[in-house]
Amino acid sequence: MRTGRTTTTASAPDVLARVREIVGAENVLVDADKVEPYAQDAVKEKFPPEAVVLPQTAEEIAAIMRLANERLFPVTARGGGVGYSGGAVPVDGGIVIGTDRMNQIREINVNDSYVVTEPGVTTYALQQAVEEHGLFYPPDPASYKNSYIGGNIAENAGGMRSAKYGVTKHYVLGLEVVTPTGEIMRTGGRVSKNVVGFDLTGLICGSEGMLGIITEATLKLLPLPEATRTVRATFKTMTEACACVPRFNRARVVPVAIEVLDRNSIRAVETEYAFGLDADAGALLLVAVDGHVAEVERAAQIVEQVVREGGGYDVLRAATREDEEKLWDVRRALSPAIKRFGTMKFNEDVVVPRSRVPELIERVEEIGREFDTFVVNFGHAGDGNIHVNFMCDRDDRDAMQRARAAVRATFAIAVALGGTISGEHGIGYVKAPYIDMALDAATIAAMKRIKHALDPNGILNPGKMFV
Ligand SMILES: Cc1cc2nc3c(=O)[nH]c(=O)nc-3n(C[C@H](O)[C@H](O)[C@H](O)COP(=O)(O)OP(=O)(O)OC[C@H]3O[C@@H](n4cnc5c(N)ncnc54)[C@H](O)[C@@H]3O)c2cc1C
Repeated sequence: MRTGRTTTTASAPDVLARVREIVGAENVLVDADKVEPYAQDAVKEKFPPEAVVLPQTAEEIAAIMRLANERLFPVTARGGGVGYSGGAVPVDGGIVIGTDRMNQIREINVNDSYVVTEPGVTTYALQQAVEEHGLFYPPDPASYKNSYIGGNIAENAGGMRSAKYGVTKHYVLGLEVVTPTGEIMRTGGRVSKNVVGFDLTGLICGSEGMLGIITEATLKLLPLPEATRTVRATFKTMTEACACVPRFNRARVVPVAIEVLDRNSIRAVETEYAFGLDADAGALLLVAVDGHVAEVERAAQIVEQVVREGGGYDVLRAATREDEEKLWDVRRALSPAIKRFGTMKFNEDVVVPRSRVPELIERVEEIGREFDTFVVNFGHAGDGNIHVNFMCDRDDRDAMQRARAAVRATFAIAVALGGTISGEHGIGYVKAPYIDMALDAATIAAMKRIKHALDPNGILNPGKMFV
């Protein structure tokens, strides 16, 4: 896995001495048991760092980056460590910069609707803090209780609410970033209209910790919606369920979330938790709307009408917050429930134009049969981002190989349907071998030139995206 561009001098005594001078000895971890928690992310493959450094300021990070360029050791930034593509793990060794101590919200501005935050604040903590002021930060990755804002920006995280509100990049107004060579730069600002110079804020969003380390973010906020309502409906087929999605818009309703579960997902949650669902159903649709109370009542009625006309049955419309939570319990139960199908889950997050979701599911089911691999599909029907899960036994080498082949075939289908290989999880090292399925040679070459211009020594997060 090593790229060979950098060395492993990070653990040299004189390097560690200088790092300790920069951040204080108590903020440098080198013992095996102390660095262990920083060796993996949600992919669960271990690459222990030589040292973990826990700085508190941009200046400290800049000093470490300058040292790394002088001594040529790799540096990898880490947020909450719940990434799904291996982005935060140091595949080439070196130092991991943990942002755990950079966890202060610096300003919540109600009149201008923005929040200024350090990168180590969890998504959940930020949402809670702004909601106390009647404000709303919409990006909601399912990992929100553990993911950090810095990790969300670096991965351009999305979530269920992206059907209506978009993804993280739509909320980033400005950033403070330490460049790979150790300068501190400020991109964007605190205003929503800003066309001065290149859009470096946009460049850093989704750059997977390869173009700079985010040390502060200014994020746009919206007014907190007064209420939400949820409708759940069962369908005979995925095609019927997904056909409802564009009809909501045609009925002038923009749901905040539209989640779909396929046949195997329904069977899994029903077998494990007995929600009383039709175990023979082909699909389940969960649709949430938000806004003022009067608006959401009306919108939920329209959603109910659309799903009934589209062939939905067992239709439930939650009247209270408690009822609503019960409807969503099915979706929340899904990840633990599908574990029964195998010890290994190839959890992909392909995305297609939303009208092509039924075709995607059909083709993926064919792939499952062709490669004799059990597949469970669910996800964000509202934006075409579907979690395709190939399940198998980790110790069964043949099954693992068949699942890998099924993943490649699924990526090819997603691209052929006008979509791409990842809508949320990013490339990291896990999907690096597939990037040329999604991007042409000229685009990859331009990205490599940008990386080289900002990081001539290949210090920051080597071994990712382009291997
Ligand atoms: C159960 C589960 C559910 C998930 N659901 C979703 C979902 O709904 N939507 C979604 O989009 N993703 C989802 N994910 C994936 C993941 O949680 C997101 O990618 C999230 O944004 C990662 O945040 P993190 O703080 O854990 O980042 P990490 O895993 O720590 O790091 C991810 C990347 O960001 C870089 N990075 C971290 N901090 C910084 C920084 N300060 N500056 C520069 N680079 C940095 C790292 O180097 C790495 O490349 C899910 C993951 C799990 C395990």
